[in-house]
This record gives sequence, structure tokens and C-alpha cells, in this order.
Amino acid sequence: MSTLLERAQALAPELVAIRRDIHQHPEVGFAEHRTSQLVFNYLQELSLKPQIVAGTGVVATLRGKSPGKTIALRADMDALTVTEQAEHTYTSKTPGLMHACGHDGHTAILLGVAKLLSEVKDLPGNVKFIFQPAEEGPGGALPMIEAGVLTNPQVHAMLGLHVGTVQYTAGQIALRYGSVCAAPDNIEIVVKGKGGHGGHPHEAIDAIVTAGHLIVALQSIVSREIDPAAAVVLSLGTVRGGYRENVIADEVMLTGTVRTLSPEIRSSMPDRIERIVKGVCDSFRCHYSFTYTQGYPALHNDEVMTALTEEVAQEVLGSANVFRAPHPTMGGEDFSYFAEKVPTCFFMLGATNSAKQCDYVLHHPKFNFDEDAIPVGMALLAETAYAYLKKHRA
Ligand SMILES: [Zn+2]
Ligand SMILES: [Zn+2]
Repeated sequence: MSTLLERAQALAPELVAIRRDIHQHPEVGFAEHRTSQLVFNYLQELSLKPQIVAGTGVVATLRGKSPGKTIALRADMDALTVTEQAEHTYTSKTPGLMHACGHDGHTAILLGVAKLLSEVKDLPGNVKFIFQPAEEGPGGALPMIEAGVLTNPQVHAMLGLHVGTVQYTAGQIALRYGSVCAAPDNIEIVVKGKGGHGGHPHEAIDAIVTAGHLIVALQSIVSREIDPAAAVVLSLGTVRGGYRENVIADEVMLTGTVRTLSPEIRSSMPDRIERIVKGVCDSFRCHYSFTYTQGYPALHNDEVMTALTEEVAQEVLGSANVFRAPHPTMGGEDFSYFAEKVPTCFFMLGATNSAKQCDYVLHHPKFNFDEDAIPVGMALLAETAYAYLKKHRA
């Protein structure tokens, strides 16, 4: 067993307690004041001179004994507006708020890594710890980058992880070369007709019938225009319009999400959608308004960083416990902003355990993850960062 994994397991009870404390006190994006203070205090105790940036973000640098490169490790800290239904001793104390995406675990893991690496005497370079707010939206990675967290010292590579509760268990990880997460963009379409009496349709322009055709026609973008081998999703999430059964609706609003992996396909989506919106609305004498709002970029892993992470994970966990995820997820992750700036690897930390009711999907009100994954995540981030610095020793 690697020495850092052994040490991580010895430290685990402390970090599990911190995770449970954060779990009981969830805070949403840019309101992570308590969490941020907890992180700040912990890093300060390690003499890491933390700084608060971008509102509730925290950054600290561990400077090695000898000069070298700087690798950054990132955890997200925010919770979701979900009321927790899981039953355990550390359930959320705030109704309507819950750590349903495991960011409490990510935060505890990274604090543990800070402690682990602080004990390493011969670190050939620096490790920067980035605790970011608001991953669930509106996004804390970009404001932290704008606040300069990738400079002074300049960051040369970066790692991040996310717990997974569907397939892999504690002691296993899954990673991917290339695409990892999609770019999640939003659309809003308003179909504008002319209201009227349900019995006299010829005197009105029916926005509901037009919207009905539009809902169906929009699906032909993914099924008929895009290469089937490229993953694209277009889902409409809301349809709102109308007043009562005998009134023809003058307006229908549709909102949805568009998910892409390729930047080229992504940039083609607004025109493709608007062409169909305009065509259908013209056909049925309606007007329209259309808004396309870009979310986070797609996340792509760097070849070299992924190979290093895979190699270290095989050593720490054994080859049989290191998997290559067959597909990217069409979920979004704002770690992608970091990945656009520096070579990164973002991997999934196995944390499924049916016996502990840790098998609900992310964002589920009964979501929980196997805390045995905490020391595993600590050891992997610490060992990979250490391996990176040794490889690039000045
Ligand atoms: Zn989430
Ligand atoms: Zn998450």
C-alpha cells in the first residue's frame, strides 16, 4: 500500500467528521460563508496562508522545499436547493438545502490532501489548493480564474475529481481520455400568435398549435442534422402558455437545454435552432423571440495528465480498480474553465455502496456517498500531484 494512502486512512476519521459538519450546514453558490471560513481556518492551521477570492472561494499554496512546477487541485463547495430525505445522523439542518452532489466530500478530501502533502518533506515544487464556490451555478471557476488563482505562482497542471454513486465502489476510479462533460447551454423560445375565442380559431393565431409543431420539429436537429456518432442533446424542460380551455393562447414560452461536446457543433446550434423556430413560426403566421445562452464549456481531459493519473491510480489502487469510462457524461462541470487554461485530469471517484444506501444518483434527495472513498480521493490527488512534481523536478 502506498504510504500516502496509509496516512490518508489514518487521517480519515478527522476528514469524515469535517465532511459531516459541512453536510449538516449546506450553503448555495456564493453563499458558502461558513464552509469557506471552515476551509480558511483549516488551511491556516496548516500554515498555508489562505486567501479568500471571488467572494467565498479560498486559495492557498503549499511551497515545496525545492523549486519546481506548480500543480493545482480543486474542490467545489456549494450545495443544492434540494430538501434532504436521506436518513442518517448528519442530515442537513437547513430545510430546502442539501449537499446532494457530494461537494461536501470534495471539500473534505481536498483539506485532507492539504494536510497529507504538508507532511511531505521533499516536495519538489508547489501545490495550490483551490476551493471554489457555485459549481452548480452560476459558476465559481471563472471568477476565481479572473481573480488570478492560476497565477502567482503560475499553475502548470491541475486535477479535480467528482464522487460517483452509480457504478464504481470506494477504492475504484474511472477516468477518460478526451471528452468528459458536455457544454450545457440554455434556450428560451417565445412563440407569439394572436389570442382569441376557442370557438372561432379563424379569427386568432394559435400559439399552442405552433408550439406543438415546433416541439416535434426541434428534435430533427439531433436525429437528422448532426452526425449520429457525435453526442448532442436537445431537451425542452418547460412549456408554458394559455389561459383556459376555451381561449386560444397568444403566447407560449419554451425553455430547454442544449448539450454538446464539440465546440464546432456547439457554435452551430443557435443557427440550427433558430432556423427551425423561424420556419415553423412563419408557416403558422406566428412571430417569435429566441435566446441562446452559453453555459460552461465542455470539459476535455489532457492526454498526458490523464496518463499520469491513470498510472498513479494503478499503483495506489491496483490496475483492476482503475477503469476507463466508456462515454462522457452530458452533464456540465465548470472545472472546464480551468481545463481551457492548463492541462488537467478530472476523474470520477467511486463511492457507490448499496448496503449503506449510497446508490442514489447525484442531485437525488436521498443522495449520499460512501465515506470510505474519502481517504482514497485524498491519496490519489496527493500521490498524483507528488508524482507530477517529481517528474518535472527543476
Ligand atoms: Zn451537481
Ligand atoms: Zn457536482
